[in-house]
Amino acid sequence: MKLNKNFDNLKQSYLFVEIAKRVESYKAANPGADVIRLGIGDVTRPLTPTVIDALHKASAEMGTPEGFRGYSPDSAGYTWLREAIASCYEQSGVNVTPDEVQVNDGAKSDLGNFFDVLGSVNVLVPDPVYPAYVDTNIIFGNAISYVSGNEENGFLPMPSDISGTRPDVIYICSPNNPTGAVYDKTRLTEWVNYALDNDALILFDAAYAEFIAEPSLPKSIFEIDGARKCAVEFGTLSKMAGFTGTRCGWTVIPDELEYDGAKLGKMWYRRQSVKFNGVPYIIQRAAEAVMSAQGLREARELIGYYRENAKTITSALDRAGIKYTGGANSPYVWLKCGRPSWDYFDYLLTEKNIVGTPGAGFGSGGEGWFRVTAFGTHENTVKAAERIVS
Ligand code: PLP
Repeated sequence: MKLNKNFDNLKQSYLFVEIAKRVESYKAANPGADVIRLGIGDVTRPLTPTVIDALHKASAEMGTPEGFRGYSPDSAGYTWLREAIASCYEQSGVNVTPDEVQVNDGAKSDLGNFFDVLGSVNVLVPDPVYPAYVDTNIIFGNAISYVSGNEENGFLPMPSDISGTRPDVIYICSPNNPTGAVYDKTRLTEWVNYALDNDALILFDAAYAEFIAEPSLPKSIFEIDGARKCAVEFGTLSKMAGFTGTRCGWTVIPDELEYDGAKLGKMWYRRQSVKFNGVPYIIQRAAEAVMSAQGLREARELIGYYRENAKTITSALDRAGIKYTGGANSPYVWLKCGRPSWDYFDYLLTEKNIVGTPGAGFGSGGEGWFRVTAFGTHENTVKAAERIVS
């Protein structure tokens, strides 16, 4: 019997474990401390009324002989949900057909599993970035190279920043976790052109797309000419509608997208039908409710709540003259701490009773920077923002 030895190359999942350890030991020593957590990127607001109604209704249906559903007829999702998702794209001026949408249990699964259809590839990952991209490629034994996001390029690495191996696969996350930086159309067009010229595939992670407030910024890579020939997009309701624990997302693979001579949409559909039996009916009904006119209004209110928190944080940083990226079109504020990020973590925890995330946890390019999230309550965010700059 042989194990997948690539697992030996994974670093211990050290970041959030270490954060929890330090917070617990501080709280044990200071039981009265009012510690505010703006560290983990999870949402805090409840599901909205339209979603709850849909969940109740679908649950009740499942308890009747007529309404009961077993296996979903299609691992890619019920047609009505794929149509609803496609129509949301259409509302923002992007043509995506329901057949190009494949529903899943959240973006993380497909972002990682997609390598089942790709074989051994060279991947290009921005640094700093969402750590799952790196770990999934370590498990697959892929060659990983990095492109640096830094203060000079506004944490928006460009093709001209690539050094070394030509990548087969390029991850782009915009708005970015952890930096909150967002590509504009010109910069994203450069990446699309680079991918087309180099036969590379872009995996575009749009997990935070709905946080974009500035209308000129692209929410989808398919707003860029040529992207349908070189990109796959991953969407999710996790942050947009509070589905982190409810679980529903989707992957868009344009019909004409070919890679190494094969239609990727068809391959991914085949892969999913072998290894995935679809998202629960009840959850798909909840997702459909998010996409309704009222559901979208409520989701926008939810996002507005977090956006106000981001504004609270960035206004305080502006007053204190602390540099940052993000906040305006993203739930993350990425501030320059000007010292090793774990030292800043300890300082904020012990002196200000605030928990954030050290930038070094997102790659070596994150050193000297620190992530604060807008996912807390208004009350805690106001307190935390004042404490950070006091
Ligand atoms: N992509 C990014 C950049 C994220 O930050 C996250 C979650 O934090 C995900 C994907 C995963 O999202 P989901 O909950 O849909 O799996």
